[in-house]
Amino acid sequence: MTDLKTFLSQQRAIFTVAHPKSQALAGKASAWRSGVPMHWMRDWATPFPIYVQSAKQATLTDVDGHAYDDFCLGDTPSMFGHARLELVAAIAKQAGEGVGFMLPTPLANEVGDLLRERFHMAQWQVATTASDANRAVIRWARALTKRDKILVFDGCYHGMVDDCFVALKDGVASNKTGLIGQVIDQARTTKVIPFNDVQALAKALSEGDVAAVLAEPVMTNCGMIQPIDGFNETLRELCTQYGSILILDETHTLSSGPSGYAGAHNLKPDMFVVGKAIAGGIPAAVWGVTSEIAARMDAAQQEIGAGQSGIGTTLSGNALVIAAIKTMLTEVMTPTAYDYMLKGATYLVEGLRTVIAHHKLPWCVVHVGARAELIFAPEAPQNAEAMRDHLDHDLLEAFHLYLINRGVLIAPFHNMMLISPQTGFDAIDRLVAAVDAFSQELNS
Ligand code: PMP
Repeated sequence: MTDLKTFLSQQRAIFTVAHPKSQALAGKASAWRSGVPMHWMRDWATPFPIYVQSAKQATLTDVDGHAYDDFCLGDTPSMFGHARLELVAAIAKQAGEGVGFMLPTPLANEVGDLLRERFHMAQWQVATTASDANRAVIRWARALTKRDKILVFDGCYHGMVDDCFVALKDGVASNKTGLIGQVIDQARTTKVIPFNDVQALAKALSEGDVAAVLAEPVMTNCGMIQPIDGFNETLRELCTQYGSILILDETHTLSSGPSGYAGAHNLKPDMFVVGKAIAGGIPAAVWGVTSEIAARMDAAQQEIGAGQSGIGTTLSGNALVIAAIKTMLTEVMTPTAYDYMLKGATYLVEGLRTVIAHHKLPWCVVHVGARAELIFAPEAPQNAEAMRDHLDHDLLEAFHLYLINRGVLIAPFHNMMLISPQTGFDAIDRLVAAVDAFSQELNS
């Protein structure tokens, strides 16, 4: 390949010529900071944002008329496909009957029972984002244990949750630089250890001051990192031994199976969080607790003798969200849908591994359920530090932009590819062909 910088500028030129309408719209967006309603929309490899005309199933169409095979799926909210007709009907119906009452509808009871049945947690609450849900469970865990610390894994992301914006630098925990305006040293109350490090985990928990461990069962926000054999089970045992509450955040790993990764692997968290896709992209998240935790919450509330006004937001659990969750749980997130997604992901992973072997590339693929991550490292890193050692921003940008110019979207920031129940195997073939063509260019 010509050097990466030259390749990148060629790809930017190709993109720019092909997207005059997006470019014109981007030129008129100065009312938005960073030119977009939410600055992450600028984090793609393109020189300006792709303006979306519409999206259906697993295809997104932009204002310039290009159709993209969408393996990003909004970074998970649209994991079950865009504009699902079942969801469209349910939302339209509820919108016609009102959305915000700060009162339950009869559907709410059905949804509660459905959540209980599917995820095996006794009691539930709705939040508006997974960030909110994580903040709520952290607060409750501290209230129940009367401990001030939480523990997270280096490289984690659990949303806009200040407590979790702590990372290891040369083995020392400190606030991440992205935590703008936070004047508190979060590392005073957040312990951070490398994922898959049983010794560090045992040591941190044995100090007896950790209210909760907040973890994804597979790390999905620093590349993708699988737990080593038995790690999640050991985490469960150590939490029980040292009285720390185990919170599993399944916002992304919901792609593992109908009851999430915990359901698929028989894990037993005390608290469970899932957001993004649970209402098909309508802003909602849910968090659930076991009956033991629920009883402790009841007791704590009696002891505190006050309401819970510090946890919750006005829009949470409104009628629209409840209607959307009901439709997702009963009509969209079905076992049949998951069967298809898992088959599709296996097909994708086989295709990617064939390309890697064919071109003898020092890359690998990590595969969890309907989610695959291409990693620019010969072997899958086991913690964030090792993952960071293999980060190559230029290669990442060149790869993403090349795929976009071939009509393929994957999640920005890293190489996550998600298979929906509506992703065609022909689309998977096109993605693999694009990766193959990129590899060819790299080797030439
Ligand atoms: N948990 C995990 C594992 C996530 O990946 C994210 C977002 N990427 C969140 C929580 C937060 O979700 P939201 O941005 O919808 O609040």
